[in-house]
Amino acid sequence: MATQTPVKPTSELKTFIPELVYFEPDALTYPMGERIRKWAQDQGLPIHMTTSHNRITNLPGEGELEKYRIAKRTLVVGVRKTLDFDQSKPSAEYAIPIATGCMAHCHYCYLQTTLGAKPYVRIYVNIDDIVARAAKYIEERRPEITRFEAACTSDPVGLEHISGSLARLIEFMAKQEHGRLRFVTKFNNVEPLLGLEHNGHTRIRFSVNADYVIRHFEPGTSSFADRIAAAGKVARAGYPLGFIIAPIIWYEGWEDGYAELLSKLKAEVPPEAEPTLTFELIQHRFTKTAKRVIEARYPKSKLEMDEAKRKYKWGRWGQGKYVYRDEQATALREWIAEQIFANFPKATIDYFT
Ligand code: SF4
Repeated sequence: MATQTPVKPTSELKTFIPELVYFEPDALTYPMGERIRKWAQDQGLPIHMTTSHNRITNLPGEGELEKYRIAKRTLVVGVRKTLDFDQSKPSAEYAIPIATGCMAHCHYCYLQTTLGAKPYVRIYVNIDDIVARAAKYIEERRPEITRFEAACTSDPVGLEHISGSLARLIEFMAKQEHGRLRFVTKFNNVEPLLGLEHNGHTRIRFSVNADYVIRHFEPGTSSFADRIAAAGKVARAGYPLGFIIAPIIWYEGWEDGYAELLSKLKAEVPPEAEPTLTFELIQHRFTKTAKRVIEARYPKSKLEMDEAKRKYKWGRWGQGKYVYRDEQATALREWIAEQIFANFPKATIDYFT
């Protein structure tokens, strides 16, 4: 039986330093690849080569759980070959691929199933190709605005001190009349973004939750207090600000938990951010596959995933999801919306799903 490597408590969390680093040979021909190689060398990290960022074999670790933990602290630096962007509804038109994987351990994270056997963290160094493809998508949709979501497959703020990719995208998007960038994070490392010229074209959203949810289900992320302090900083730097409350979880005392969350946000968000403040609300959902993976990787998790208590929602592409029953979903939506407008009367709720 594998032993679990303890995850650092959030209060100790600093910037992410991987334990292992792999490079595709081609990645070193790009300036970002070379810069990351030098950074890894300066950190004294073991550097390995790999023929493909899609195939990292022989990661160390005894048993599946330990291998998984080590993979989450392994950085793979590669070249993104597929430059067709996926759709990213409802929050954006396209997902812009700058990184894949995340070092945090949120029990419910959907990357657990979408990344399958590749939970390691990947950074793509051909950012110029990615930006050029984004420019093409913007051109195709003119005069419509095209929104790109940078956090569909990763939490790029937690990797920015290594990649610098968000800075590149933010400065590019600042100059696009018809392009907008958005990303969501549970990390507070926003310092490198504060002085950039963004022209209000990038919306930074913070994923927040009731204290109970953060404490029980989000190990390895920045603490709530640190996230909120970071939200204040980006708002004061003039970025449009948003919050994603996700996953909204029904637990004993949830009304008080979410009311407290909104009043804490109110105390920290600068008033100038309010008129353009957005909220996105996503209730907890799981698939049968996700449940199996979560139970194997986080066997002590208190995450409730009882199909009998849920409503089955058919998926458009295959496997459906278990969401809360209508009466619970409605109660969650109404209560949280009430708390939002009581604290932020000028804010917008983009959607509840
Ligand atoms: S921070 Fe986001 S991407 Fe990372 S594990 Fe948590 S939910 Fe997943």
